[in-house]
Amino acid sequence: MYNAKAYSVAGATSPFSPTGIPRRDTTEHDVRIDILFCGICHSDLHTVRNEWSSVMPTVYPCVPGHEIVGRVAQVGSAVTKFQPGDLAGVGCLVDSDHTCPSCRADLEQFCRNATFTYNSQDKHLGGVTYGGYSDSIVVDERFVLRVPSNLDLAGVAPLHCAGITTYSPMRRWGVTKGRKVGVVGLGGLGHMGVKFARAFGAHVVVFTISPGKKEDALRLGADEVVISRNANEMKKHAGSFDFILDAVSADHDINAYINLLGRDGNLTLVGAPSRPLPVSAFGLLFGRRSLSGSLIGGIAETQEMLDFCGVHNITSDVEVIPIQKVNEAYERLLKSDVKYRFAIDMASLKSE
Ligand code: NAP
Ligand code: ZN
Repeated sequence: MYNAKAYSVAGATSPFSPTGIPRRDTTEHDVRIDILFCGICHSDLHTVRNEWSSVMPTVYPCVPGHEIVGRVAQVGSAVTKFQPGDLAGVGCLVDSDHTCPSCRADLEQFCRNATFTYNSQDKHLGGVTYGGYSDSIVVDERFVLRVPSNLDLAGVAPLHCAGITTYSPMRRWGVTKGRKVGVVGLGGLGHMGVKFARAFGAHVVVFTISPGKKEDALRLGADEVVISRNANEMKKHAGSFDFILDAVSADHDINAYINLLGRDGNLTLVGAPSRPLPVSAFGLLFGRRSLSGSLIGGIAETQEMLDFCGVHNITSDVEVIPIQKVNEAYERLLKSDVKYRFAIDMASLKSE
């Protein structure tokens, strides 16, 4: 065991402060990664503030962070995929049981024994896992991703959650050329959804409550932008969408979007507001529409997404911050005041 530098919170209303955390020594299948950048996902904020207490209560102290990119510092004797010096990424998963039907289907995110990168039971050290707001992490090589060498690393970090979470449902629901696709909420997830839908050739419509994001939405690849609080603008699109991805972090009316779907259209929720969202049965009955959820993606698909990003030159639009600014960044994230993902430059942790 060794001591890693990290930033943690002590409780739901506490600010982040510097701390030391235990990391395991590299076992034969492990890769130790020196973290270069870690994205700030809204799930980090939900967890830190215990907003998901009814489903996944937070254990404190909590070190979040599941959008990790770095360089391999050390590998175990049985590791075959990585060598010291290689670029490497880690997303929301660090282990699973490898034997259940979900694992065998390359859908480790649904394994009932999955270990998430933070706030999950740590099988090696006991206690809970600690995430990427840290200078290093030790992960089984089966959960370490290969990072394309041609991309900006700060912009690559968010692909490990925001990227795969939007890529996976679009692949599953057949987002391709000729499809009309909506993306609700232009945040960290939403802006990646726009980039992927565009890259897959769809006609992309962004729904936003922030009129100031209109120009950006078009620049990021949207064909049209709808200010969702304008009922007339919404009405124009009634019954016309094949697929809508809802990436909103807070309470909102999903019925308004279900009504924009055409026959057999699907709305997939990836946003995870803490309170239940009411659904009108009629919106689903008429048009045989469906409502689904989606959770990140399996490791194989995450690798496929990273490789796709390498080929198509896709990264997240990031604002790079030193870790000392993380408390301020959380307040700004709540106000949607980030274009469109914070990435922590972990070099800033060295001075702590
Ligand atoms: P984010 O960067 O904060 O983006 C959320 C966006 O939602 C905002 O930019 C805003 O977009 C919109 N929004 C915020 N408050 C709203 C309100 N009151 N009404 C309507 N729209 C509002 O968050 P994120 O990191 O993209 O995460 C989004 C959600 O996905 C979070 O709940 C997160 O926990 C969840 N998530 C799920 C998965 C998964 O696997 N399913 C993975 C990662 C994250 P506009 O200003 O454009 O309206
Ligand atoms: Zn996330």
